[in-house]
Amino acid sequence: MTGRKGLGKKARAVQAVRKIVKLFSGRDPWWRREGLSPFWVAVTIAVSPRTTAKLEREAVKRLMERFPGGAKEIAEAPLEDLEDAIRVSGMYRSKARAVKALAEWELEGPGVASLADADLEEARETLKSLPGIGDKVADVILMALGHSILPVDVHVGRVAKRLGLVPENAGYAEIKGALEDIFQPEERMAAHFALIDFGRRVCRARPLCDRCPVAESCPSRRSDVQSR
Ligand code: SF4
Repeated sequence: MTGRKGLGKKARAVQAVRKIVKLFSGRDPWWRREGLSPFWVAVTIAVSPRTTAKLEREAVKRLMERFPGGAKEIAEAPLEDLEDAIRVSGMYRSKARAVKALAEWELEGPGVASLADADLEEARETLKSLPGIGDKVADVILMALGHSILPVDVHVGRVAKRLGLVPENAGYAEIKGALEDIFQPEERMAAHFALIDFGRRVCRARPLCDRCPVAESCPSRRSDVQSR
């Protein structure tokens, strides 16, 4: 039998990432719990980069209050009004452009919901052709619509690198590929959310290594960082 010490670096990283996902699973984001429509899910994800879940929700709720007519009202609204509604989430100028583009695209048809049944690569390219939508936002929208992918956000990427799953200079596609090799299609959405939760609560930019359940396996463990 092979003990933990006998495992190679990569195998230890795989074991650690699996353990993290097991321990941190079960906290769906608010937009899944509240059952938003595909269009509003896409808007939420476009607003999500580099903000907290709380501020993301606040920004989307403000949009919903100011534009209860959804895509039509958003498409017709001045950009400044959209920026004002989502200002709280940060990076509001580029996010407002993405939200407006999504609304215009939704109106042109066939709309966000149709991407659930579309070819994955075509759907990704369609979304990425809209202003303000890159790999990560496109992939999270497609994952939310049921495609079996594991998008990489800033937290997911940081955890994968620190555990030694991928090299420090790995790009989006390499990290995503490494994680998708580990998790079965039906596990990927839960793994995405669990790794984000772990990255926000434990393996932060300034990591809380002394509270980390996989510290013994982590090549990036820091002994100089004290929990607050
Ligand atoms: S030991 Fe520290 S750096 Fe490694 S995964 Fe845990 S929190 Fe992150």
